[in-house]
Formats: sequence, C-alpha cells, structure tokens
Amino acid sequence: MKTDTVKTKILIIGAGPAGSTLAYQLAQLNHEVILIDKAKFPRTKTCGGGIPLRTRKELNVSYEHLIQGTVKHTTLRAGLGQEVTFSGSTMADIVDRTDFDNCLMEHARSAGAEILENTEFLSMERTQTGWKVTTNKQTIQCEVLAACDGVLSRVRRSAGKGTNAMGIALEGYIPLLPNDTPKQTETAVFDFSCERHGYGWIFPRRTELAVGIGTSRWSAPDLRNRFISFASRIPGNSSPVTRITGAPIPRYQEPEAWYAKDNLYFLGDAAGLVDPLTGEGIYYAIKSANLAAEAIHQNNQDLYNNTILESICPELSIAAYFAKRRAQMPAWLIGIGLRFKRLRQYGEAFTRLLAGELSYTELYAMTHKGRKL
Ligand SMILES: Cc1cc2nc3c(=O)[nH]c(=O)nc-3n(C[C@H](O)[C@H](O)[C@H](O)COP(=O)(O)OP(=O)(O)OC[C@H]3O[C@@H](n4cnc5c(N)ncnc54)[C@H](O)[C@@H]3O)c2cc1C
Repeated sequence: MKTDTVKTKILIIGAGPAGSTLAYQLAQLNHEVILIDKAKFPRTKTCGGGIPLRTRKELNVSYEHLIQGTVKHTTLRAGLGQEVTFSGSTMADIVDRTDFDNCLMEHARSAGAEILENTEFLSMERTQTGWKVTTNKQTIQCEVLAACDGVLSRVRRSAGKGTNAMGIALEGYIPLLPNDTPKQTETAVFDFSCERHGYGWIFPRRTELAVGIGTSRWSAPDLRNRFISFASRIPGNSSPVTRITGAPIPRYQEPEAWYAKDNLYFLGDAAGLVDPLTGEGIYYAIKSANLAAEAIHQNNQDLYNNTILESICPELSIAAYFAKRRAQMPAWLIGIGLRFKRLRQYGEAFTRLLAGELSYTELYAMTHKGRKL
C-alpha cells in the first residue's frame, strides 16, 4: 500500500479542460493546487475537437497555434436528400484534443499548479478538515476536492452521486482530397438523417476530416454500421474511415441536487454538464471551471451551486427539451422543414447558437413565441 502522504489546499482530479482550467485559475490566485491525472500527457482523447467560438471568452490561454480547422460554413443535412448551408463569421475552431489538452495542462503548470501524471484517483474519505484521497501512488490530504475526471467519474461514484445518464459517440478520420475547395475545408456538416437520437458530423482539419456520430441511446449495437455507412456517403471521398474510436458522453436531463457540497466540487463531464442536443461539453467544462475557481477563492460553495443553476442549467434544460423534440422527428420531416424558408431560419439560428451568437433561451423564445417551457 502507498505510504507517502502529501498535503495541499486544493486537489483536482483529472486534467481535461475542466481540471486544467480550474488549476490554472486557482494557481493564478496564489492557491496551493495539485492536479492529478491517471494518464501521461500528451494523451489521446476521443473527441471531435469542435470548440464553439464562445469558448474563447472563457479561456485564458491562446491556442491559435493549435487550430486545425476553422468553421465558417455549416451544412445541415436531413432526410429526402435535403441540405442547406449557412455561411457567416467564424463559428468554431477545430483542434486536436491531444494538443489542446496538453496546452491547457502546461498552462496550469506554468501558473504554479503542481501536476502529477500517471496518478489515478482510487478512493476518498471525509476528514475533519476536508478530504483524504488515495491514489495509486500516495495519499493526498486536501481542504477542497474538485472532481474533473470526466464522464465515467470515479469520484462521482465514490460520492454516491448516482450515474449521469449516458449516450455514446464514435469518431474516425478520412483524408482531405487534393481537389477539395477552400469552402469544403471550412465547412462543418451536421447530418440528422443518420441517427434519430443524435446526429453525424464532419469537421474539417488541416489534412483530414474528423467524422463522427453520436446518440443519446445507451444501447446502440447498430451505431458502428450507421457510422460506416454515414462516412462512406461523404460526397467525392471514397477513402475508408480509419482510427475509429468510441466513448460515452454524459446526457444532461435536469439540474442535479447539488454541484458542490462539503468542499467537494463537480465540474464538466463529471457534473453531467454537456449539451444534450449537440453532445458538446468543452465549453461547459471550461465555464464550470471558471465558476468553481471564483467560488473556491471566495470559500463559498453555494456561489458555485447558484451560478451553475442560474447560468448553465437553464440553457441545458432547454437544450434537453429540443433534444427530446428532435428525437420525435423522423429525418424526412426535418428534410421537409428545410424546404421552407420560414423553417430554414431555425436551422440558421442553430448555427448561430453553435457560434454563441444566440442562446438556447433566445432560440426557445424565437420558436415558441411567449410560451413557457
Ligand atoms: C466522440 C466524441 C466527440 C466529442 N466531440 C466534442 C466536440 O466536438 N466539442 C465539444 O465541445 N465536446 C465534444 N465532446 C465532449 C467532450 O469531449 C467532453 O465534454 C469534454 O472532454 C469534457 O471535459 P472534462 O474536462 O470534463 O473531462 P475530460 O476531458 O474527459 O477529462 C477527464 C480527465 O480525467 C482523467 N481521469 C479520469 N479518471 C481518472 C482517475 N480515476 N484518476 C485520475 N484521472 C482521471 C482522464 O485521464 C482525463 O484526462 C465529444 C465527446 C465524444 C465522446
């Protein structure tokens, strides 16, 4: 058994976007922080790497040198062969998560956070002054513990917080073709015809397309076949999809009873803070980290509970409503909708939502004219 005991004020489990952002913010405020991750960085991460533009406002690190693709056009595809493309200002950056997460982690280290890689959280127990955590390497005593350990959070299970309902996503890669036009290499495709409880996506990167499919169904044995079929239908591209990996995604349904209690904070995927319509969670991981940093700095966990409930949950609850409505609609119906100018504006609104120019609250008000959720 491990005998070393380390003490710190704040211990963060998991160096994804949530954990590294939190570590950076707290180290900047001169707090004593240890950030542990079971992986050795740079580590790979199954993710489309789509960073909606609104994330830039929440991040305190420049990642321009890591941008693999810039989305300036969004194509929505539905049944009956219908598709429509909206163009506008930049909507999202595409990054490789291996590099992006490594950059955030190094940024936290340079701000003064102590980083322990290859260090896996195993269990925890409450003490009079905080928490005692057992890892595969040592025991760590802390006053504040932050769970940023992702979708299958072991901290969450140890805290008896219950599962956060899950879906699954698969992704892989296809090379870009030499004759692909600049427009093609700046277009993100969202395809609602390949999965009724989710969608397929194609994100442009420097030399390849990241292709994926996600569903809110937990049991989806047909998903791989759907994915291969979707990837094989990319116009003009006959290359097989390679490097296929899959991973679960949390599915937000409604606000949880608490996000911080007894100086134990839950953030990002570990808190279930993922958009249930799009499966997007990087923005919410980083936003929850900024809110948690402020609350920990002020030693006020209610501040965290309240700001999550006020600023994130209302948006995700509306997204959950749209996700449910979307699952009730067959692809052909969405296809018919795209034929009508009046309904196409909702498609355009969806792309503005991805860019952060529109909130779910505004989208709901636009589509439901004064009706309450
Ligand atoms: C196929 C797929 C595509 C996606 N595409 C997008 C996208 O394009 N845009 C988007 O915004 N979101 C996307 N997501 C969701 C996004 O990946 C997550 O929401 C995001 O990574 C959450 O960040 P996080 O910091 O909460 O957790 P994570 O990024 O999962 O980080 C958790 C960290 O905790 C570590 N860890 C886990 N257990 C332990 C342990 N016991 N001890 C120590 N360390 C531990 C892990 O090694 C990891 O580094 C996608 C998800 C999937 C599955």
